[in-house]
Amino acid sequence: MTVETTAPIASPGTDPTLVTPVTSVGQTARPVWPAMMKGLKHRCPKCGKGALFSAYLKVVDSCDSCGQELHHHRADDAPPYFTIFVSGHIIIPLMIVVERIWEPALWIHMAVWLPVTLIMCMALLPPIKGALVGLQWAFRMHGFEYDEEPADASGARTGIS
Ligand SMILES: [Zn+2]
Repeated sequence: MTVETTAPIASPGTDPTLVTPVTSVGQTARPVWPAMMKGLKHRCPKCGKGALFSAYLKVVDSCDSCGQELHHHRADDAPPYFTIFVSGHIIIPLMIVVERIWEPALWIHMAVWLPVTLIMCMALLPPIKGALVGLQWAFRMHGFEYDEEPADASGARTGIS
């Protein structure tokens, strides 16, 4: 059975695992999952060392460690969307299970699930936003398309690394 892969083309005798993948426009490919995991941990998606947030959800303008500009991320309302998606898929089944087993009074449901939902959403928002910033960086979206090469004399970036 032949399996076709999208591995980068390597010259004969070259270990393909040592070749840096290149995008169709000649830029170095950025690994998506590692970038998202670094963002999930509130770290710069490029180096994984610098802090991603300067406040609860405020993304820093640039990384303190590697200088990667992060101000042009456009997470917008995707983090709340995914936060609601994830927390809803956790809270609602738990509510149904508790109702089926113990049938507590409505005020007990309210007293338990409202604060639990609030705390869960507040806890999930920053890592989800970080992961989405990492995703945008890896896919070169919204100004993340250029590597950190110096601008040429006219101030325009070449986009070639
Ligand atoms: Zn960095």
